[in-house]
Amino acid sequence: MKRVAILGATGSIGLQAREVLERHPDLELVAASSGSRPLDGVAPLTQVGGDPVELLEQAEPDVVLNAVVGFAGVRATLWTLERGIDLALANKESLVAAGELALAALDRGGGRLLPVDSEHSAIFQCLEGRAPETVDSVVVTASGGPFRGRNRSELEDVTPDDALAHPTWSMGPKVTIDSATLANKGLEVIEAHFLFDLPYERIEVVIQPTSVVHALVRLRDGSSLAHVGYPDMRVPISYALTYPDRAAVDLPQLDLASGLVLEFEPVDEESFPMLGLARLAGERAGSYPCAFNAANEVAVAAFLDGRLPFLGIPEVVEHTLDAADGSPASDVESLHEADREARRLAEQALVAA
Ligand code: MG
Repeated sequence: MKRVAILGATGSIGLQAREVLERHPDLELVAASSGSRPLDGVAPLTQVGGDPVELLEQAEPDVVLNAVVGFAGVRATLWTLERGIDLALANKESLVAAGELALAALDRGGGRLLPVDSEHSAIFQCLEGRAPETVDSVVVTASGGPFRGRNRSELEDVTPDDALAHPTWSMGPKVTIDSATLANKGLEVIEAHFLFDLPYERIEVVIQPTSVVHALVRLRDGSSLAHVGYPDMRVPISYALTYPDRAAVDLPQLDLASGLVLEFEPVDEESFPMLGLARLAGERAGSYPCAFNAANEVAVAAFLDGRLPFLGIPEVVEHTLDAADGSPASDVESLHEADREARRLAEQALVAA
């Protein structure tokens, strides 16, 4: 029996994880948290609002699924890794903002870090058992979001409702807007850098509109391994929670005979500058990725409130990266300080926009 704690249990990932748990008698839900929605009777221990670390201390889980949205997930990530408890990580922001601190905690704790993000789960699976020197590069695929194929002028007047209509994945509002701007892919590039210890030039992004190919790993002999399947988050969730057993999931296999089309196209970085800004932040390192994430969170919230146009999101982020000092955070307090400072700079940019 594996004792599982789910943080962010009422969000899209949290709900799908609860579904996965219900079907696996070997997984026991011992604790669940949410930001504000009620959790009565969902698990023996529940917490609504506040820092979920208090809940984890009581719950003594074997694996923590961190599906909190945004920077708010950082403390739980660090707490879990420090204690050597397995972490199924859906909160990509905590690895983006706190990558160095998280890897150091993982190293000290000796537990496992299992990605739940579909692309990273795919890369993780393609890399399993492979010597690092045999790997040339990885390819993260993107659906391109609802605005794929549009140029800048066609993006000027798009509304939150337009952006929330994602073609292939059903997700919460923050991640869906991040998919529309490609900030999500930018966060995923930084996430991949930390998870797989790869320099940024060896992490490629390509558009694959149907989201059937989740990622590829290119090997040094010219072979590429792809991870394919219908887009369904229950697959990476189940994989992470039942690792290394890979439990059965009741989903249809790919129907190849009906004529599966796998198209790829390059990213239009001019119309979607968030990917380039994320790479810039990642390459500058230090607390720049934290600043990228914080500015994006502020800009997305403003866009959802109708206070910022769609194309204002990358402007706010660019302004913040230009103004942030970016020095590395040596501990979680200085990381929080970098996050607060970046949010302040982003709010300034909002006023100016
Ligand atoms: Mg993803």
